[in-house]
Amino acid sequence: MQPFTGNFTQQEPIPEDAIAAAVAVMRGGRLHRYNTGEGEIAPASRLEEAYARYQGAKYCLACASGGYALSVSLRAAGVRAGDRVLTNGFTLAPVPGAIAAVGAEPVLVEITRDLVIDLDHLERRIADSGARVLMLSHMRGHLVDMDALCALCEATGVTLIEDCAHTMGAKWNGRASGGFGLAGCFSTQTYKHINSGEGGLLTSDDPEFMARAIMMSGSYMLYERHRAAPPPEVFETIRLETPNMSGRMDNLRAAILLPQLETLDANAARWNARYEAIASRLSQVNALYMPHRPPEEFFVASSIQFLAPGFSPQDCEGFVARLKEKGVELKWFGAEEPVAFTSNHRSWHYVPAQDLPQTDAILAGLFDMRLPLTFSIGDCAHIADLIAAEAGMS
Ligand SMILES: *Cc1c(COP(=O)(O)O)cnc(C)c1O
Repeated sequence: MQPFTGNFTQQEPIPEDAIAAAVAVMRGGRLHRYNTGEGEIAPASRLEEAYARYQGAKYCLACASGGYALSVSLRAAGVRAGDRVLTNGFTLAPVPGAIAAVGAEPVLVEITRDLVIDLDHLERRIADSGARVLMLSHMRGHLVDMDALCALCEATGVTLIEDCAHTMGAKWNGRASGGFGLAGCFSTQTYKHINSGEGGLLTSDDPEFMARAIMMSGSYMLYERHRAAPPPEVFETIRLETPNMSGRMDNLRAAILLPQLETLDANAARWNARYEAIASRLSQVNALYMPHRPPEEFFVASSIQFLAPGFSPQDCEGFVARLKEKGVELKWFGAEEPVAFTSNHRSWHYVPAQDLPQTDAILAGLFDMRLPLTFSIGDCAHIADLIAAEAGMS
């Protein structure tokens, strides 16, 4: 079989209308979100209104990164240094990092082989840790049963904050991911679903929470310029007691993102067609397990994951190496040493070490691959054939 020659980290170009909008912002020179002309609505404010509408949320804050959205949401939710915060044992480093940023301690919860948080283990950890906040990471876009999760949070008085870095555009039972708890946190970093290089979006329906997040993001006393925000009287009570931890989004990024929002749903369908082309082939390979995707879940497949439960560490290394020679870039989560973007809890040494035997066993045979939209469906079928051929031989 011919090797694959595509580039796994090449995203599509920024659309021409977004480039034009960025050029217009630069020509105006008003890149700071509070630097507006008479009667002008800043692109950052327009983005917040558009994203709140897209999510069906009351409020939205545009900020510097997805990681910033996560840490500011913990602070605005009242998490203090020394508090414990629950999160998935399998997520990307910015999630435990956001918890550490507020001086809190991550309490890691096992995942299932379908790559979602294990609800039984979560229930036990809620009981034995005393933690009252869950930062739920929809890692790689896999949604847990949100009805069961919300029922558990409600029954135990746990506040839910969603990490939606991989679920922008995704839904559970028709309801947008990010709208199930106190807050939803999104990233607009290059490898996510809309691309401004760096950036974050935070949504909520809670007026006090959002007022605090806006003050923290560095709004000074200019919060009345926010449009997807609670009314000024909500700020009255908190504006002088809330510290400024600058992390605003600028108008240039917002201008680039606004037109991309309009093609997000169409792009979700394009990602999912690529996913199907690979998943349908790999689900026929005996050595591989494709995580189950329940009918309630509408996902946005900017990446694909599969397990090779019977592979030894040597098998996994050989599999990755042989596919690399064939031009297919797989990430393996079972490696001893963290490579590139780290996602293994054992490499977060600032987090108290925790025993997660079930998660470790899953990560030992878990592979992950990006699905950039620059790949055609034919490219995906080719990649799937290469993976299937190697998996069949291991
Ligand atoms: C990318 C990512 C983040 C954070 O996003 P940044 O914008 O890079 O800070 C958070 N959670 C997960 C799971 C991510 O993949």
